[in-house]
Amino acid sequence: MVLRELAPTAADTLVQSTTLALDALARNVCNTWDEAVGAGGPPFTLIIVGSGAYGGYLAAKVFDFHPNARVLLLEAGPYLVGEHVQNLGNVGLNVAAPISPSSDPGVARELVWGLPWRGNVEFPGLAYCCGGKSLFWGGWCPRLTLNDLAFWPTAAATYLNSHYTEVESETGVVPATDFITGELLNIVRAQSFAIAGSVANLDIALPGGPVQTAPIAVQGAAPVSGLFSFDKYSSMPILTQAIRADIERSGGSDSQRRLFLVPKAHVVRLHVSGGAAHTIEVDVAGFRKFLSVGAANLVLAASTIETTRLALVSCPSPLMGRNLMAHIRTDFTVRVRRSALPQVPAHVQTAALLLRGRAAGAPFHLQLTASTSRDGSDAMLYRMVPDLDLLDQQLANTDPDWITVTLRGIGAMAGDRTTPVATGNTSWINLSPFEQDEYGVPRAYVNLLTSGVDNALWTAMDQTALDFLARFAGSPGNIEYLYDGGWQQTPFPLVRPFPPWHWGLGTTYHEAGTLWMGDDPTTSVCDASGRLHHVANVYVGDQASFPTVGSVNPVLTGLTLARRLAEHLG
Ligand SMILES: Cc1cc2nc3c(=O)[nH]c(=O)nc-3n(C[C@H](O)[C@H](O)[C@H](O)COP(=O)(O)OP(=O)(O)OC[C@H]3O[C@@H](n4cnc5c(N)ncnc54)[C@H](O)[C@@H]3O)c2cc1C
Repeated sequence: MVLRELAPTAADTLVQSTTLALDALARNVCNTWDEAVGAGGPPFTLIIVGSGAYGGYLAAKVFDFHPNARVLLLEAGPYLVGEHVQNLGNVGLNVAAPISPSSDPGVARELVWGLPWRGNVEFPGLAYCCGGKSLFWGGWCPRLTLNDLAFWPTAAATYLNSHYTEVESETGVVPATDFITGELLNIVRAQSFAIAGSVANLDIALPGGPVQTAPIAVQGAAPVSGLFSFDKYSSMPILTQAIRADIERSGGSDSQRRLFLVPKAHVVRLHVSGGAAHTIEVDVAGFRKFLSVGAANLVLAASTIETTRLALVSCPSPLMGRNLMAHIRTDFTVRVRRSALPQVPAHVQTAALLLRGRAAGAPFHLQLTASTSRDGSDAMLYRMVPDLDLLDQQLANTDPDWITVTLRGIGAMAGDRTTPVATGNTSWINLSPFEQDEYGVPRAYVNLLTSGVDNALWTAMDQTALDFLARFAGSPGNIEYLYDGGWQQTPFPLVRPFPPWHWGLGTTYHEAGTLWMGDDPTTSVCDASGRLHHVANVYVGDQASFPTVGSVNPVLTGLTLARRLAEHLG
């Protein structure tokens, strides 16, 4: 049977029916290019490239903060779903596995995952869909420390410190892990507090100490009586809310609208002259469109690598592409005898904590998850189980003898801002001289390498994790280590040339820094608001603007900067 698909015709204006579905959600939230740019009305004041974690949030905030703003949000991918996939139960939407860019099949994997760049390590690529990677992300949201922020422009660092709490509240990080509670959490926390002072490299100088509540962007409880919780955060619900408010406010007249989300609109480049972008070139379903920018500001929020590529293609400057940072990452899983800990609950429970450390002059952190389930430490984490019979089975699947503990270590990589791109053993992004993409524009090439300092940190982070786990268990007879396909009584051997518990540098999605902010145009690419020093109306709206990324997962900082940018952009 031939499946009937959505027709890219005038029927776009209606909710269309396919063989299997009614396209109501996309139709109720998104607009076509022609609807958005051809409906008349006032000129756009802001054009955002990419509707992911930051672009979607930024669009909604500018709409909320500035009643005269008119925002065009251009998204290369299609509408997929309206919230984080984990809030939907098992709907068969997965993250693509990392692959070598040279093996890129040239078609989407897992429906929406594309790999638009080339590079020297494996990457999963980008989720090309409205909401971007925010529909799939893990939710860990630690703050940058004062040490990390020492390299940031004062105005940005001050804003982050004074506004982190607001964004933590918006995303569900605060109130803290209201969806992870119970005896196992209390036991794991008490044991961690008891041993933390004797584990070398855990950062006891930090305010509150090294053992911290897991900062996860999930709101598990009703914010006030009568409301539902919003579960795991993504940029789509807040964006949808703003767009629907706009549709209702404008009485459905596109010329009166102030916020449009246009999917399947791949921004090819900006045309820049005289120190300002004047035209944006977009591929809309195979047709090349050129939109005059007028007096609008433009924000690049296509995710670090693609944002950097767009900047290099459109308005290159000498420092762009240096200072590439990602994260070093190790995952260790062990099991600890129940008898080593007091009163572990009989039924299945899950615990999570954050441990902060410092070694080789750089920060790292350990994300701890623990569970009494036979299926592992995160088998019952981040899941919506709608079937109570299934839930009962899973709760009964308790391990009578062991709890499983995973420590995911994430450590800072130092960026290099002084060595020119492609001239030394550093990490960088440039434009590939060898390959163009489907739109006739050079692909990005990404070079990710660890330095000697990064490697020293990696070793120290691994040793800290193993030391912590050994002390957590109390004695060698109480712990077994998961490697080589089974539980081993000896600790992970750290001397292998490439330990299998190390993750590749391209697998964390945390690339940052290549268009970093600073007050001095001779030593940075954009200013403290994110505006490119040499282009009056183009802003960096994602992690590419970070001067440092520390060890922390980037989204809390990226959203807080997006909030600042939203206040700044009228
Ligand atoms: C499985 C997983 C777990 C993660 N866990 C965490 C975590 O626990 N904590 C954390 O902080 N981070 C985590 N991350 C990383 C986090 O999701 C990213 O840091 C964040 O989404 C980056 O936001 P962004 O807006 O820059 O990019 P994205 O969210 O990827 O959005 C970019 C958008 O731009 C669009 N786009 C790209 N090119 C173009 C173009 N040329 N024209 C128009 N549109 C374009 C894309 O389609 C996409 O929608 C995780 C990511 C994944 C996938």
